[in-house]
Amino acid sequence: MIENSKVNSTDVAITKNDSPTKAIDNGIELLGGISRFIGKEDEVFIKINLRAPSGFPINVNMDSLRTLIILCKDAGAKKINVGGFPDYGVKTSTLNSTLGLKSYLENLGAELISLDDMATSHFSTIEVNGKSIEYSTRVLESDKLIILNQVSVDPLFKCTLSLLNCYSLVSSKSQKIDKVIRSGKDYLLLDQYKQDLISNILDVLSIKKPCLVINDMFYFLEGAGPFIYKDSNLIRTGLVVSGSDAVAVDLTTLNLLTIDLLDSDILLEARNKRLGITDLSKINLKGENLDDNKIIVNFSVDKLNEITINNTYLQTGRICSGCFKEAYHLLNFMKTHMTKDLKYIRNQSMLIGESPIEPETVENIIVFGDCAVKTTKNRDFRYIQVPKKDNIIKTVGDKVKKGNSSQKKPIVKEKVNKSICELPGCPPDMHTSLSTILKYYGKTQAPNLSFYNALLNQIINKESEKPIKKKGVTGDV
Ligand code: SF4
Repeated sequence: MIENSKVNSTDVAITKNDSPTKAIDNGIELLGGISRFIGKEDEVFIKINLRAPSGFPINVNMDSLRTLIILCKDAGAKKINVGGFPDYGVKTSTLNSTLGLKSYLENLGAELISLDDMATSHFSTIEVNGKSIEYSTRVLESDKLIILNQVSVDPLFKCTLSLLNCYSLVSSKSQKIDKVIRSGKDYLLLDQYKQDLISNILDVLSIKKPCLVINDMFYFLEGAGPFIYKDSNLIRTGLVVSGSDAVAVDLTTLNLLTIDLLDSDILLEARNKRLGITDLSKINLKGENLDDNKIIVNFSVDKLNEITINNTYLQTGRICSGCFKEAYHLLNFMKTHMTKDLKYIRNQSMLIGESPIEPETVENIIVFGDCAVKTTKNRDFRYIQVPKKDNIIKTVGDKVKKGNSSQKKPIVKEKVNKSICELPGCPPDMHTSLSTILKYYGKTQAPNLSFYNALLNQIINKESEKPIKKKGVTGDV
């Protein structure tokens, strides 16, 4: 692991203020001042949340970022780079046009780095625990790495911890979890997807240790977050947690949100791997008292059928975190952006996971994910019974004849139900799912979806699917 700090890793500061600038400033002061983290002539990379073109707080709080850049400059940093991989293959350049980040940073003497711009980015292959991880050479070669993390709720990890922020130092493609079934192990029962995801997140963290980690929860998106959905709600806590050990900072943050170590599978795994401090009693807390500042927030739902959507019936079978996360976002997207469409559609069912029960009707059935597609192949809803043509009553005379034989069963034939929209994938990709659903319903029935899909087509970085440029540096951690 590349060490990156002179500061005592057990120190964690909790600060509270009416201004985000002061909350950040005071936290760093309590930890000994910025010069404990940043030296003269250091090249600094500040990793921020740069997730989607929806503004704050999905992305970084600009006030917090400005404060941090000014502090780094005061400490004598030679160069300050800012960036991260946006979610779902969205381009940094798109986020820049929406947020005006580039010029904002230039005015502060920092530079926005498009890690996803394959023409300018270089990657090094790092071997960690038998895995090859493509890691930005620029971040690797920076003297200091700082994580400035916007905290909100998260459907898989309760909240968007700094460890998750670190993970988007690698591309969306590299973050993808391949389904690897271990002999004798039940993939779904053990939620192997989440275990593999946690293992990958911790591997990425282990490549380059940040010198300073700031969990910015001054503003906090509760409810359906971490994106701005219909059921999301912004609250102002005024709190910031800072330190040099990402695990200790995350543990303190979770405690402020009344979540125990034992309820956080990612921190438990960090403890198993001896990565960072996972014992609260070993953390030297500074600033505000932890117990006096605990906050109660509304976390996102942990069952998909708690997301109620107009005219939509949901059936879930056995499911792992992969489909849970993607379906969570798809359902919240539908609830937020397809309200009008769902009035026209009037009736749709979604089947998610392995062996879901039969849908209530046979029209507009969305089958989500490889497990659902595979285990419903021969289900009743795949076929519909239609009356045979010669069974249709044409004249009054026919009616009399039919009436005489009314005891007989009507003649029907079985046809394949075409009212089904399959979304394959393990888990399905959100953008492809939206395009497939639009193709199924058509523009007339789903005008809202058509609008958002056209927008997404413009901002998704197809380049991110191309092989990345390697600089040829290969290191072992
Ligand atoms: S299809 Fe979905 S539920 Fe099944 S293993 Fe893949 S991610 Fe998990």
